[in-house]
Amino acid sequence: MSQAQHVAGSQQDWTQRYTGAVMNTFGTPQRVLVRGAGTEVTDADGRTYTDLLAGIAVNCLGHAHPAVVAAVTEQLSTLGHVSNIFTSPAQIRLAEELAGIVFPSCAPQETRVFLANSGTEANEAAFKIARRHGGTARPRVLALEQAFHGRTMGALALTHKAAYREPFEPLPGGVEFVPAGDVQALAAAMGPDVAALIIEPIQGEAGVRELPEGYIAQARELTRAAGALLIIDEVQTGMGRCGAWMAHHLLAPGVVPDVVTLAKGLGGGIPIGAVVASGAAASLLQPGQHGTTFGGNPVACAAALAVIDTIRSQGLLERVRELGEQWAGQLSALEGVTQVRGRGLLRGVGLAEEVGPASEVAAELLEAGFIVNAPRPHTLRLAPPFVLSDEQAGAFTAQLGRILASRLTQAGAA
Ligand SMILES: *Cc1c(COP(=O)(O)O)cnc(C)c1O
Repeated sequence: MSQAQHVAGSQQDWTQRYTGAVMNTFGTPQRVLVRGAGTEVTDADGRTYTDLLAGIAVNCLGHAHPAVVAAVTEQLSTLGHVSNIFTSPAQIRLAEELAGIVFPSCAPQETRVFLANSGTEANEAAFKIARRHGGTARPRVLALEQAFHGRTMGALALTHKAAYREPFEPLPGGVEFVPAGDVQALAAAMGPDVAALIIEPIQGEAGVRELPEGYIAQARELTRAAGALLIIDEVQTGMGRCGAWMAHHLLAPGVVPDVVTLAKGLGGGIPIGAVVASGAAASLLQPGQHGTTFGGNPVACAAALAVIDTIRSQGLLERVRELGEQWAGQLSALEGVTQVRGRGLLRGVGLAEEVGPASEVAAELLEAGFIVNAPRPHTLRLAPPFVLSDEQAGAFTAQLGRILASRLTQAGAA
């Protein structure tokens, strides 16, 4: 069968087949997508959408970027997979690149990288590093309220939302949650029995909430004084998403964490995660203590190398910063928008109560041809490809303005 025949069929047909074949963990998918190019995707009924979510902050270069397609094609047709009994130039080159990107102030001999396949796996490895730090003398791990670190058992134990955690208890023990952004509470919880503190510099699933100014630096001081590791989860915020390679570079210049986890945008659409560690944390996992069959897969590494090279050669960090600032200014001027949070091209748009549920606004936007999501009842999340044009950003702002105005008028009339 040709590719065209494989994807023939209406959205309705496909959705029915989805329900009959795929576990119901995600609810009914919003659309059946068959094609993507740049910032646009096309559904099975032939409608196109501007993708302002990018697979949840994944497709940082948009869909089918020629550099990623070429790198993956070339690597797959040369050497596709080798396992960790062997290595490949792609894996080694990526590890070297990541060390420099994440820890620009560290010498190469102070840093080490572990390659995984997703965000949750990167956090699992970070959790295991924390367990190796201090052993039974440091049984406690601190995480923040509203934190999201993934869905596998270890990462889930670090995730705050009770509805995600409780059906799967007992989870790995020792995790305690402290209020996000509260230095006093962190200082009170910190102690010589703490192995690690894990934080997201901007809490994405919580509605794109930035930690208050100074918090990350204080967290570094408190963890250092207690001898605990500082783990920064940059799975959503890293790889240029916020207008710097790492969000903590922007929010806490000069702070050097012990461990940084990456995934989402790293492979530009190919599944890959990474743990990048500095200092003593870089050698806590000993031979045989952790592993993954696919981790460091040459195709995934080639994709990540193409992403890094393209962000660099196209000046995309600067572009993300500039477009992000300009767009946030325009969005915050809309009536019905209470606040625009976040940095660069990771934005939470807070909506006024009278506008109604953000999920309804997202559904209207989808009908109008724009993909966003609603991580919280009154927040829309924007995480578009870095190649979004000024015109596309402006078209979205205008459409959102129309939808909000009409909903405000209805609310006023009711
Ligand atoms: C998405 C996300 C994860 C989990 O990544 P997966 O690839 O879905 O496992 C972990 N941490 C943060 C901050 C995330 O946004």
